[in-house]
Amino acid sequence: MKIILSGPPGSGKGTQADLLVTKYNFIHFSTGDVFREEIAKKTPIGITVESYVKDGRLVPDEITLEITKNFLIKNKNQNIIFDGFPRTLPQAQGLDKILLELNDCIDYIIFIDLPDNEIVERLTARRTCPNCGAIYNLNFSPPKIPDICDNCGTRLIQRPDDTEEIIRKRLLVYRNQTLELKTYYENSDRMYVIDGSLGRDRVHQEIIKILGLA
Ligand code: AMP
Repeated sequence: MKIILSGPPGSGKGTQADLLVTKYNFIHFSTGDVFREEIAKKTPIGITVESYVKDGRLVPDEITLEITKNFLIKNKNQNIIFDGFPRTLPQAQGLDKILLELNDCIDYIIFIDLPDNEIVERLTARRTCPNCGAIYNLNFSPPKIPDICDNCGTRLIQRPDDTEEIIRKRLLVYRNQTLELKTYYENSDRMYVIDGSLGRDRVHQEIIKILGLA
């Protein structure tokens, strides 16, 4: 099964993907996570994409599609959750083309919606573990010991692009470049929209209902 989790930054895509990976047999493919890893390792791709990620701009489609194609070739026939990809029309069309070549297709596209004021509130309180990728929110789901990851004991960080100024930029990018994907997918009977303000557990329940896993 192949699922796209889409929606504005901070809508809970990563958290929902993690829940599905923990409970069911999915591989989580987050282009944001891939870029952050490449940046941390200072690879040629990391050096190229660093300024885009830091400024909240989208990495060029060719680079994003290339890492996706390599990932899909390596993980043929796996259950995959795409988180934060595709983010542009050319990426969505490129993904369809790659999957067609691999004799595969997207089964479900799920948009998690959230109003802007809630996004800013959530993202400025978000902390992540640089080691295991766990995601916390200081207001709703804080770590047991302040600033320390419950899973692996690593000190939590605030993502450099989770400042209010960059969040506002990312929201603009979402409205201008990603939202049109709703129109691209809306004609298929595979697209669903969920209200992200329902909170983590209810959104998870909605997703597993859609996927027929409830
Ligand atoms: P995320 O972790 O999904 O919030 O992504 C963090 C940043 O990585 C974004 O603001 C972009 O700079 C970059 N990025 C992640 N996914 C994509 C994508 N599909 N296309 C272009 N840039 C991306």
